[in-house]
Amino acid sequence: MPELPEVQAAVDELRRRAQGREIARLQLLHPSFRRRVSPRVSRSLRGARIARVERRGKHQLLHLDDGRVLHVHFRLNGDWESTAVDAPLPKFARAVLDFTDGSRLVLVDSRALATIDVHPAGTDLALGLGPDAADPTWTAEQLGDALAGRRGPIKPALLDQKLVAGLGNIYAAESLWRARIDPRLPARELAPARVKKLRAAIAAVIERATGSRYTSADRVRLDVYDREGKPCRRCRTPVERIVQAGRSTYFCPHCQDE
Ligand SMILES: [Zn+2]
Repeated sequence: MPELPEVQAAVDELRRRAQGREIARLQLLHPSFRRRVSPRVSRSLRGARIARVERRGKHQLLHLDDGRVLHVHFRLNGDWESTAVDAPLPKFARAVLDFTDGSRLVLVDSRALATIDVHPAGTDLALGLGPDAADPTWTAEQLGDALAGRRGPIKPALLDQKLVAGLGNIYAAESLWRARIDPRLPARELAPARVKKLRAAIAAVIERATGSRYTSADRVRLDVYDREGKPCRRCRTPVERIVQAGRSTYFCPHCQDE
């Protein structure tokens, strides 16, 4: 699932392959997209230029030179593929962005859960996001204050984009493992020293994964996520999996002891 580092990689790709280019056509191949963007709006994109590309949490914002915003969210497993205009479309092609210079970007998504929206110029894009996990000015004190007001365990809290934007199931688990925090610990009971470790762990985990195209074990080394039954990389205790708020949580029952 694309989380902050993978979405950042997609945004970097968009900056190389879309920024500054003029849209010739946006084809929406999947009905879920056509429900969000009408044919009229889709046609009206012709001639607009992509002025700049921005990441906010896991959202991709393509700012057009007319002030409109093409807003893309990959959800579970969307991705961009760059192809020639005359090449056959990739399997699971859901939307096709053609540029007047003859280049093409295809949004591929086997689950078809990705979203595209076109926001009119001047829209206040309130995405309901907290501080970005990659923001160096986001402090442990701010994280601690946000956790102090929460009910429930720490792991599901980290998935809440209002608390911190960009983390998902994988990097939340990795961050807690790195900071040696039990994912079941009530969020508000985290001591300040531990919050500091968690803030540092989030930074380290994001930093290590940045530049990867996908979250996959062959490209990014994962310490705990999806390693149920395998030995903890620190203490060799088998990694356990539990379900919290409907999502799998992987952790070491021995050394995640805070
Ligand atoms: Zn361990």
